[in-house]
Amino acid sequence: MRSTSQNGLRLVWVYPDLLSTYGDQGNVLVVERRARQRGLDVSRLDVRSDQQIPTSGDIYLIGGGEDRPQRLAAERLMRDGGLNRAVANGAIVFSVCAGYQIIGHEFVNDLGQRQQGLGLLDVISTRGEGARCVGDVLADIDEPLGLPPLTGFENHQGVTHVGPTARPFARVRFGNGNGTGDGYEGAYKDTVFGTYMHGPVMARNPHIADHLLKLALDVNGLPPVDDQWYEALRNERIAAATAQPA
Ligand code: GLN
Repeated sequence: MRSTSQNGLRLVWVYPDLLSTYGDQGNVLVVERRARQRGLDVSRLDVRSDQQIPTSGDIYLIGGGEDRPQRLAAERLMRDGGLNRAVANGAIVFSVCAGYQIIGHEFVNDLGQRQQGLGLLDVISTRGEGARCVGDVLADIDEPLGLPPLTGFENHQGVTHVGPTARPFARVRFGNGNGTGDGYEGAYKDTVFGTYMHGPVMARNPHIADHLLKLALDVNGLPPVDDQWYEALRNERIAAATAQPA
């Protein structure tokens, strides 16, 4: 494990009071459950926006949010500095939608202003000129990650450009993803991930939770768990995504 703390694996849910649309909080529940299913000692900390971000977490999860809460969350995270320190120490971050935009270099806020992000991932978000990207998404995850297809639900106005030091997380088969028109969805570098997929995305794609656990534990594999329910849900969502007009 990255850390030798006696508390086992430490999950941190960042700002549940500001960033948790579409059940994104489910992501932390899925990571926690899949860790427990493997007999791992795991603790979970929900850090509200009036509290300090601990730097000792192993996996930080950040959800989506409406435009105003997104601005407030970004301001507080910048002021706090804890998340950047944790990443500098090797922590893992998985962020969704507004969270994804916040961990990039900048995004356009609810006041129409360019707002600085945490710079944890080489992405820049602008405000899309076209219709809001809303609907089911099906995408193939970047091959080196070795993960099965990704399904999710997107709802965003922001458009995210992936810079040269990050890699797109996935390539869309259906839906918009980053919204730039190049067919990419999300971005990642080393231990930092961003996606537009709500759902919550881990409930639809538990292999992502397993990937984060493997990174945290520094192992190549985990004992298998019964994924029948997840597979049924994923197949249903793939059918929903492919049924909508491309
Ligand atoms: N406010 C952001 C956008 O519309 C993020 C929305 C979200 O998190 N669902 O792009």
